[in-house]
Amino acid sequence: MMAAPLLRAEGLVRRYRLRQGVFRHPVTVKAVDSLSLSVARGETLGIVGESGCGKSTTGRLLAGLEPPDSGTISFGGEPLPAAGHARWRRLRTRIQMVFQDPLGALDRRLTIGEQIAEPLEIHRLGSKSERADRVKTLLVDVGLRPDHGARYPHELSGGQRQRAVLARALATDPDLIVCDEPVSALDVSIQAQVINLLADLKEQRRMAMIFISHDLRVVRQISDRIAVMYLGVIVEEGDPNLVLRDPLHPYSQALISAVPTPGAGRRRDRTVLQGDPPNPAARPRGCAFHPRCPAALPVCAQLAPELTSAGEGRRVACHLVEAAGEGRKETV
Ligand code: SF4
Repeated sequence: MMAAPLLRAEGLVRRYRLRQGVFRHPVTVKAVDSLSLSVARGETLGIVGESGCGKSTTGRLLAGLEPPDSGTISFGGEPLPAAGHARWRRLRTRIQMVFQDPLGALDRRLTIGEQIAEPLEIHRLGSKSERADRVKTLLVDVGLRPDHGARYPHELSGGQRQRAVLARALATDPDLIVCDEPVSALDVSIQAQVINLLADLKEQRRMAMIFISHDLRVVRQISDRIAVMYLGVIVEEGDPNLVLRDPLHPYSQALISAVPTPGAGRRRDRTVLQGDPPNPAARPRGCAFHPRCPAALPVCAQLAPELTSAGEGRRVACHLVEAAGEGRKETV
């Protein structure tokens, strides 16, 4: 029997009211649309897509930092409580979030050690001396020295600051870390070090991770499963090696063909997408990708495809793939 997932989200919808154009007309943008996913204990789910596809909003919803307009999220088998709820405080120790900009995430007026100790103080974990010992251990765990605890954020390099942010996220021994573009602001040479560190920490602590990035190569390195997002929906999900080697969704194919990825042998031809990414405030009817899809069928402009199983643990939202799957079934 399969173990229950650590986190399960069903039918998540998140809308924002924005003002657009010269006359600042109010428009509603659906940043996340009927999104469902799950993450098992110890698993890393990579979420990848272009800027504006809704991946960061998805991360904030899953970390409980903002509520969905509809849909449900359960964590450890219980509904995720709203921020401010009594149970929310306890849950904050179990879910942590790491953002792209480590300098923005740290308080310039406090030392690194004070900031790593903060979550322990807020949740009243350990005595003062135990907290001091824990800070030293966490600094070493993330590859810093204990004396880095006495420094201020501006006295560290970008990579060291992101390590300090990680140490603070790990302070309460979370079961899940949501990382939103955690290495995008770092030099390429430092990116690899932080990715390796994240992978090691995840392995040692058996924690789950949701790793959000626009960079397929980075997501591939660390993920056990990846979800490709386009305009607020997951269009393809599965084993990263399978998805990268043989993407089934036309959008995944275009995204992957644009990246020189080792092992992506079967689809080397570059697929150039036509047109600009659509305005999320004027989302196309049917499959949101149909105005740019080189394989669109008449039905694609009318009916949104559902995320359905495409075999080998993969799920794809595409009428074309669905039709091909049915054809295979008929011949079995
Ligand atoms: Fe293209 Fe249609 Fe598939 Fe959308 S559903 S990706 S438009 S073939």
